[in-house]
Amino acid sequence: MTDNQKTYKVLARKYRPNTLEELVGQDVLVNTIANAIKTNRLAHAYVFTGIRGVGKTSTARIFAKSLNCIGPDGKATEPQIKPCGVCEHCRAIAEDRDIDVIEMDAASRTGVDDIREIIDSVQYKPASARYKVYIIDEVHMLSKSAFNALLKTLEEPPAYVKFIFATTEIRKVPATVLSRCQRFDLPRVDMDVLCNHFKHICEMENVNIDEASIQLIAKMADGSVRDGLSFLDQVISNCEGDISVEKVSKILGLASKNVIFDLYDYIMGAKISDAINLVNEQYNMGVDPVLILTDLLEITHFITRVKISPNSLTTLPLIPKEQERIKDLANKLSISVLARVWQMLLKGLDEIKKVPNLLSAIEMILIRISYIGMMPGPAEILEKIENQNSSELQKKNS
Ligand SMILES: [Zn+2]
Repeated sequence: MTDNQKTYKVLARKYRPNTLEELVGQDVLVNTIANAIKTNRLAHAYVFTGIRGVGKTSTARIFAKSLNCIGPDGKATEPQIKPCGVCEHCRAIAEDRDIDVIEMDAASRTGVDDIREIIDSVQYKPASARYKVYIIDEVHMLSKSAFNALLKTLEEPPAYVKFIFATTEIRKVPATVLSRCQRFDLPRVDMDVLCNHFKHICEMENVNIDEASIQLIAKMADGSVRDGLSFLDQVISNCEGDISVEKVSKILGLASKNVIFDLYDYIMGAKISDAINLVNEQYNMGVDPVLILTDLLEITHFITRVKISPNSLTTLPLIPKEQERIKDLANKLSISVLARVWQMLLKGLDEIKKVPNLLSAIEMILIRISYIGMMPGPAEILEKIENQNSSELQKKNS
């Protein structure tokens, strides 16, 4: 192990945002919170919801700092839009040791006793900070009785108490709790924003990476900054020298786009043995069959989009060469075939998780698609019969 690896700190931790401005891709949230602080219109409870890794708990911690920051000179009497990062409260919160900022993970502490502890402490004023801030992560995991206990406190919390809840599953949070919170929906982070963020981090880390690799990682991240950073971690620690899309694909167990397009052509052209050979080759290289199916699903969606509105071709996250292949497939395939292929891929994805041998599962799925996917659907059969009848009628009449 080299020194570099020994001291390696995961990127998500190393580049955790410290101010609202550093939060990636959450502009609406950042503006609203900044405005609330500026106009001194603070709710007593907030709930942040969104998929994992979009910045919910990071925002909660920054918000806690904003609420309690006293500025570098220790004289600020109001919450600060930009927490200074150097006062005693900012530092204590950053180091997870502020006694007035209580963080709890509801996933591991779901019971009514855990909540009771919190509720009991609400009645005591903050030890030294402006506000006592309770951050409850994965709040939807609380038990029913825990929610009920919490509700009473939420109805009338003391003025010095703020609650910040975070959840990936807002529908599991009781309406009675939600109605007492100001709610923020944190969207998935845009592909462009993710790409720029990852590029910036690679520069800071002195990592040489090409544009296509960044895009691939951002695509895999699917809107989550943290997921993207953990892919980037994986790639950086497994790559020697410059990072290329081939290396990234290999490390993340992905087939290259070209391979996926070839596979699509084979299946649709009923070249089943070519398709099987290709899948076997990829499997032996370490590509995950589940990801192959997901990629085929994505391509099916792209082709269908282009079929319905040809102008959308340039808006797809594809390089020109790939756009050509989508256009080509859109010319060849009908909407009804595409709809059937989509259905069968979805069913295949569901099936593949239940079969112990992934390779045999994907082989069977692809064989099925290339047979049934190409067969005419009921509407096409009817059309054919009608055409036949009318041409026979014409023959009789002439
Ligand atoms: Zn501060």
